Amino acid sequence: PQPNPEVGTAVKAADRAHVFHSWSAQELIDPLAVAGAQGSYFWDYDGRRYLDFASGLVYTNIGYQHPAVVAAIQEQAARMTTFAPAFAVEARSEAARLIAERTPGDLDRIFFTNGGADAVEHALRMARLHTGRPKVLSAYRSYHGGTQQAVNVTGDPRRWASDTGTAGVVHFWAPFLYRSRFYAETEEQECARALEHLETTIAFEGPSTIAAIILETIPGTAGIMPPPAGYLAGVRELCDRHGILLVLDEVMAGFGRTGTWFAAGLYDVVPDLLTFAKGVNSGYVPLGGVAISGAVAETFARRPYPGGLTYSGHPLACAAAVATINVMEEEGIVGNAAALGASVVGPGLRALAERHPCVGEVRGVGMFWALELVRDRETREPLVPYNATGEANAPMAAFAAAAKEAGIWPFVNMNRTHVVPPCNVSEAELKEGLAALDAALTVADGHVA
Ligand code: PLP
Repeated sequence: PQPNPEVGTAVKAADRAHVFHSWSAQELIDPLAVAGAQGSYFWDYDGRRYLDFASGLVYTNIGYQHPAVVAAIQEQAARMTTFAPAFAVEARSEAARLIAERTPGDLDRIFFTNGGADAVEHALRMARLHTGRPKVLSAYRSYHGGTQQAVNVTGDPRRWASDTGTAGVVHFWAPFLYRSRFYAETEEQECARALEHLETTIAFEGPSTIAAIILETIPGTAGIMPPPAGYLAGVRELCDRHGILLVLDEVMAGFGRTGTWFAAGLYDVVPDLLTFAKGVNSGYVPLGGVAISGAVAETFARRPYPGGLTYSGHPLACAAAVATINVMEEEGIVGNAAALGASVVGPGLRALAERHPCVGEVRGVGMFWALELVRDRETREPLVPYNATGEANAPMAAFAAAAKEAGIWPFVNMNRTHVVPPCNVSEAELKEGLAALDAALTVADGHVA
């Protein structure tokens, strides 16, 4: 990359003057001006290059600027940039076919949205209309999006400010042995007790009032917590017993992230509705959607579905999805995530955990890993308090700064860093990133009690 600091200064100045950023106190942020990106890397206008260990916001599953996908977008733009949703359009039909072929069970109908949050909105609307019931159960330690209903079902602090009009949303605790709410000491106990807690929650809320249970198959932003064996099957059974729909949110976990097309496949569970976005086309053009079971589709066979979007199934976004899915097949990208996750990332992170007292737990699968950073391994006290800001968050800010200094762009949330590089990352890139992480963890070690 050629440095060009003057352009960088102008880009930054216009950003600071006019761009209003997500989830931020506008005057307390300092966005990096990014000049370009290729594969697993991006760079700034000063010529500093970063290995993107965050895949943007965990969505560039094929890395940046994949030439086949860029070419497909260019071809689609030349042929038909846009077309209204009521028409049958080649790119849209083909994207739906390719997605439906990969989703589990009979999730064969695809409703396209612009991203993940609106996919969640529509999935929950479908569930309420299909069952005729008002409530939705969702987990603490989850993220489902920033729109009203999606942020209401979210189980992290981002929902607090929007917790108005939350009628019909009830939160429960999903399993997470490392910080068990159930005094469990084994995965088996955690699983059994979490299921018992959910069963009791359903009984006390009234099964006939519950339309859906929504879960991230593997919770992502909240901490990458693969559920214990049997948990999702147990939730499926509770849903079946009570006529409740199971919605699995695979906006982050889907499309190769876990080393399989959909994480539901890891647990042999078929939901009634599955939400996706991000990896469907690596976010090259905004796209999300809901994969719908035969039974739910039947509800809207002769009765109109009351929902839609101007850009539902946008041809440019769908052409990007078609090219992305084909590239992932041709280049074995899903298999790469599984293989290098098991042979390089998992062992590499466990080796780091042995050397660094700040690492409390390593967990994950594929290219979907979390390190839980702690002040004390015995008590598991987090390196920073829950939802810390400012001075209280200084140890994690120091960790992130050290990671960038060492050449990786880290994903950081509360007291965790997530290792979520593109699914087509190479072994050499991973080793380079793990070495940078090693240096940053040494800084975090300085904050261990
Ligand atoms: N669901 C999950 C599991 C997510 O991780 C996200 C975003 O991170 C969303 C929904 C919301 O997606 P979007 O930001 O595209 O609206």
